[in-house]
This record gives sequence, C-alpha cells and structure tokens, in this order.
Amino acid sequence: MYAVGMIRGKPGVHGFRIPKPEIREPDEVLVKVKEVGLDGTDFGIVKQGTPDIAEGRDRIVLGHEMVGVVEEVGNEVKSLAPGDAVVLTVRRGCGICRPCLYHQSDMCMTGLFKERGIHKLDGSLTQYVVDEERYMVKVPRELVKLAVFTEPLSIVEKGIQQIKIIQSRLPWDCPHPEHSFQSKQWGGCKTALVVGAGPLGLLASALLRLARARTFVTDIVPENTIKARLVENIGAHYIDARTLTPQEIVDICCRPTGNLHVMFEAAGAAETAVRLIPFLSRSSIAVGTGIPRGDLRIQVDAAELVRQIVRYNQVIVGSVNSNRKHFEMALQDIGDVDSRFDGMLSKMTTHRFKLSDYQQAFALSDTERIKTVIEVDPWD
Ligand SMILES: [Zn+2]
Ligand SMILES: [Zn+2]
Repeated sequence: MYAVGMIRGKPGVHGFRIPKPEIREPDEVLVKVKEVGLDGTDFGIVKQGTPDIAEGRDRIVLGHEMVGVVEEVGNEVKSLAPGDAVVLTVRRGCGICRPCLYHQSDMCMTGLFKERGIHKLDGSLTQYVVDEERYMVKVPRELVKLAVFTEPLSIVEKGIQQIKIIQSRLPWDCPHPEHSFQSKQWGGCKTALVVGAGPLGLLASALLRLARARTFVTDIVPENTIKARLVENIGAHYIDARTLTPQEIVDICCRPTGNLHVMFEAAGAAETAVRLIPFLSRSSIAVGTGIPRGDLRIQVDAAELVRQIVRYNQVIVGSVNSNRKHFEMALQDIGDVDSRFDGMLSKMTTHRFKLSDYQQAFALSDTERIKTVIEVDPWD
C-alpha cells in the first residue's frame, strides 16, 4: 500500500510502498485511514530535514492527526467493531514509569516513549494502520467529519485542563461561583491572551470562548487575513503584534477587566512568550503548548523576571502531547466548537489534498494555510 513519509539521508517528503499491516495480537484493530491532518510539527520535520527514524529502519511514515474506520478486530477486542469510526492517540508509553503504566504517557517520566508519525513509530499518512484497542478512541457517528481535529483539540484541552487544575489554588476574587476554575464557565470575569492564530491558537481560543473568557489573540498577520477573521468569528479580539510592544499588547488585553489572567502560547513564538511574561498580571498563569525550533538568543533582565514571577505568584507551565482522556474531552467539545462558531472547523480547513498530491500539501507556505487535510479515502 501507499505511504508518505521521510527516508533516511534523502531530504524532503516522499511517497513509497509498504506492506499492508495485519492483526497479529488478539487486542489489535485494523483501521482504514480516512483523513489525516498536517500541522506545524509535520511541516517543521520536513522543512528542517530532521525525521526521527527508529534505529535499524530507513524511513518513517508521517501523520499523527487522523480519523479512520475499523475494518477488522482481533478476538479479544471488546469496545470496537468493524464500521466504527476511530481516532488514534499519538504517544506510546515507555512501559516503565508509573504515568505510562497508568495511561498518562503524556506525562512520561523517562522520555523513552514513542510517538506515531513523529518519534520512531510510523504514522497514518497511509491507507491502513494496526494498533491496540486501548489506543483507539471511538468517534460518535455524527462527528466523523469533524474528527480529524480531535488530536489538535486534545492538545489544547490538556493545556486548558492544566490552567484549571493549577489555578484552582487561588481564592478567586470575582463574586460569581459559576466562574470558579472547577466550573464549565470558569472563564467568566477573566481575560485570556492567546499567542498565535494557527490551528492550536484558534482551537484554544474557541475553548476559552466556550468557557466565557474575554479572549484576545495575537499573531503577526494583518487584520484582513483569514486568521484574523476566524478570531473575530469566535467572539475574540485580534491584535496584530507586528507594530506593538509586549507591554502595549498586554495593555490592550487589560483594558476591559484590569487584569490578564491567562496567557496561552500556541505558536512556539519563543521571544514573544518570554517578553510578555514581565507584563502578566498578579496570580496569572502562562501555559506553553508551542515548541520553538532551532536557537534563539535574547537578552532579558533575569532579576526582574524572577522577582516578578515570585512577587506576583505567577505560574509558567508547559503542556505537551495529550492522553486518551483529553481525546475524549475533545470529542465532547468538538461538536460545540464547530456549531457555536459557525462551522469554524471547516472554515479552518483551508486546503484538502489527495494522498498522492502530498508534495503540493507540503509545499504550501505558512501564510496561506491554516489546516491542511489529506483525504486518504474521502467520506461519501
Ligand atoms: Zn513513561
Ligand atoms: Zn465572575
């Protein structure tokens, strides 16, 4: 069968043939891949020529955002049957640490995990995949056409979950019990700034808006672009960061409530993230989900930075990957995200390609795409 990925010592992205996988263990499931989403990780690996291929192998199949349909199940599979739509989680635990043994490989303590389509293991840019039942999350029938967004949404679900868990430490100061960090409308009376209006930034903004947070989104594109329009479409406010200082950006966010409670970094914009920290409000939290590539050296006043983090009880936290629970949370919210914001997910899908047209998909520039979806086997 056909697959798309990277080959050791051969720059760029390539199509090649691999054997169709078969069920070998009773808990395994054969899935026919329907759609695969591409994201910054995929484009970054290809552009920088840094595939993470397992030792002893000469290639890796890319693709970690996917939705497929079960074709065949092993004897001991209980929760899935042929015809069910599923999404696959990405990380496979180290098998050693307790988080991995208890289904939280996103919090792996050894770093010896693998990831489908990213780190050592083949991904889903191909026609069929086999994996264990426990790594598959069933998609309700009415959501199958949105489900390619489950993985990126699960990433921001985890990021928001971290905010809620950590900030539950605060004696919250607004008078509304429904705005406590444990409740669904926790964002009420709070202001959030999302850095980056790419897929993760837009999805984070959507969850913040569903939680009633006053939300600002900053990026480095003009206001008449699709990114900025999608931001406004979800009732958030777009800030073009190209001509503003970090202090000016925060001042805009602080106008309505006097505070900036949450910063959600979703672009890997390392300098912006660091430069914004000195202007965050008391008791605020900055969560990072974007992973910067390469090196970037800047000068900062370290004493001022640390002084302020301490004096203001601030939290700077990273959040990577996501586990099965976050996929389930994503599937609970994905319908709302799309319907409340006017078909947002289809509007975010700026490009669709057949698997055989992968070169075109990887040739798109950052500025023209938001979400690129590869239709391996289009829905009817
Ligand atoms: Zn582990
Ligand atoms: Zn309130």
